[in-house]
Amino acid sequence: MAIEAADIVIVGGAVVGSSIAYFLKRDGFKGSVVVVEKDPSYQFCATGRSLASIRQQFSTPENIRLSQFGVGFFKSVKEEFGPEADVSFRENGYLIMATSEGRAALERNVKLQQSLGADTELLEAHEIKKRFPWLSTEDVAAAGWGRSGEGWVDPHALMGSFRSGAREKGATYLADEVVGLTMSGGRVAGVKLKSGGSIAAGTVVCAAGWHSYKIAAMAGFELPVRPRKRLAFVVDCPEPLPGAGMMIDPTGMSFRPEGRFYITACSPRDGEPDPDEEDFEFDHGVFEREIWPRLAERVPAFETLKVQNAWCCHYDVNTLDHNAILGSYPGIDGLILACGFSGHGLQHSPGVGRGIAELMIHGGYRSIDLTRFGYERVLRGEPILESNVY
Ligand SMILES: Cc1cc2nc3c(=O)[nH]c(=O)nc-3n(C[C@H](O)[C@H](O)[C@H](O)COP(=O)(O)OP(=O)(O)OC[C@H]3O[C@@H](n4cnc5c(N)ncnc54)[C@H](O)[C@@H]3O)c2cc1C
Repeated sequence: MAIEAADIVIVGGAVVGSSIAYFLKRDGFKGSVVVVEKDPSYQFCATGRSLASIRQQFSTPENIRLSQFGVGFFKSVKEEFGPEADVSFRENGYLIMATSEGRAALERNVKLQQSLGADTELLEAHEIKKRFPWLSTEDVAAAGWGRSGEGWVDPHALMGSFRSGAREKGATYLADEVVGLTMSGGRVAGVKLKSGGSIAAGTVVCAAGWHSYKIAAMAGFELPVRPRKRLAFVVDCPEPLPGAGMMIDPTGMSFRPEGRFYITACSPRDGEPDPDEEDFEFDHGVFEREIWPRLAERVPAFETLKVQNAWCCHYDVNTLDHNAILGSYPGIDGLILACGFSGHGLQHSPGVGRGIAELMIHGGYRSIDLTRFGYERVLRGEPILESNVY
């Protein structure tokens, strides 16, 4: 039977939409929750193609607190979802390296993280070399190292846990695409579906990843969230790299172990073009031209390697400040935004899900105050610049 009305309709059922649905039901929302997902195979969403890593090493207090909740959540999935649940959390630090120019900012960030209880330590160049003798550190002045509370998970398992948890607690998933919003007296009153029907809703939540700007356009406003293509390559390495965590060099190039291989990913360097791109095409030659030389410079053992796998997907980049946009759009009731995560949405999905649920159940944040991530800062043109974006 077609669903004609729901108290809450969530657009997008990947990790963020499903987390919101889960926390709404877990934390006592008694009304009906419908999650509309256009691609139930999830093969093209960012969640399934994510590196799924989590760190405390941010420069924005809210991001640090969201990660702290995320890590605790990953460690307690069995209590949360039952004994079968397993998101394969592998606790392993991030090493965020800085040159002498970047050292002052690194020190500021590490102090902030420590003041909020993160287990980050500042390593001097000689300590980095001692701990990771296989790393070239000539241009590195210092690094932040997460002694605990950082690592990575299996993104499909996390998303699957949220989905099945939300379903078990009463949320409904609908395979369809939202192609329009029903507006009534300046408020969002429901969604129009590609299949032809529509659902009247008390509140519509936009958790559509980089597609969120299209949902905003349906409500008549512009959202500074854009699809920015990111590439990931899985490579082998002929030598072991003992103790490797998520290693991020001063250019932003990163790699981390994945089973017996390594995953490396790259964002454009400062000043390089980073256009809007919605397709999944990419030039495989980019690895040999741009990524491999950087990898081999950082780790000589990578001079001989083999690419095992490669893929691309899109960051949901908030072009204003690389931070999430959460909550309502001023002047339009009935719509809640949860998007713009800019490459750190997976690790923040538990905290964001809980926060958005609090907003809808209690009318305000109860655990982590995420007010600063509201759309108001976009209207005021006041970015909250996150310096640790990769
Ligand atoms: C290569 C790569 C590496 C990354 N690494 C990390 C990392 O290490 N750590 C980290 O925290 N984050 C990482 N991220 C970012 C993270 O994956 C995303 O921020 C997060 O997955 C966003 O989740 P989401 O649910 O908001 O969006 P998505 O996963 O993009 O899901 C949005 C969903 O909405 C659906 N949808 C869209 N429009 C509609 C519509 N009109 N109707 C119905 N459904 C719709 C889509 O089909 C999709 O399933 C990475 C991303 C990429 C691409």
